[in-house]
Amino acid sequence: MRLLLVEDEASLAASLKRGLSADGFVVEVAHDGRTGLWMASELDFDIIVLDLMLPTMSGFSVCQELRKNGVWTPILILTAKTGEFDEIESLDSGADDFLTKPFSYPVLLAHIRSLLRRGVRERPVVLNAGGLRLDPATRTCQRDAASISLTPREFSLLEYLMRYSDRAVTKRELLDHVWDPDFEGSPNIVEVYVGYLRRKIDRPFGTESILTVPGGSYRFVTNEA
Ligand code: CA
Repeated sequence: MRLLLVEDEASLAASLKRGLSADGFVVEVAHDGRTGLWMASELDFDIIVLDLMLPTMSGFSVCQELRKNGVWTPILILTAKTGEFDEIESLDSGADDFLTKPFSYPVLLAHIRSLLRRGVRERPVVLNAGGLRLDPATRTCQRDAASISLTPREFSLLEYLMRYSDRAVTKRELLDHVWDPDFEGSPNIVEVYVGYLRRKIDRPFGTESILTVPGGSYRFVTNEA
């Protein structure tokens, strides 16, 4: 999942980026409002975590501007201020959720997960498809009663494929959303990891969950018997 973090406190931004990256997110950081607005408008993110008090442009204005321009990426606003006024203002500006600083990292993660579930449409807490069960909160994967151990990268890849199982997903999209944005290796890495996944989630069970679609895309099959 690609996450844009707009936060001007350098140390907070760095520690959140570290934590979120370790949890499988592809994180890009903007340190001021205008840069954040530009990145959110021009690049493709699954979620935006937006600080309220920012140099060059406030989080409210960034949020309002994005919604005015038809960018509907889920937005979680971080605010150091407290009080009902900010809550109302945050939600009225088009944000989906807000969190008051200081917050604990697990709480932030829970808010992010909750927003990702909503996505374009309401999405379940635990992904269940084709006999496969993937729980992003506990990072566990099961087929029927069998636990499957996945690396963080394999988990992120499978989560993305399952969340977008209604369509074919291109290798480029997977590279952008599952790998680091600075990744400069061969796109064939996606093929290699799809191979790892198939060896874990399908081959031992005689199933075929990840179809190769002509043209270099993949589609997760939801109605695998
Ligand atoms: Ca700030």
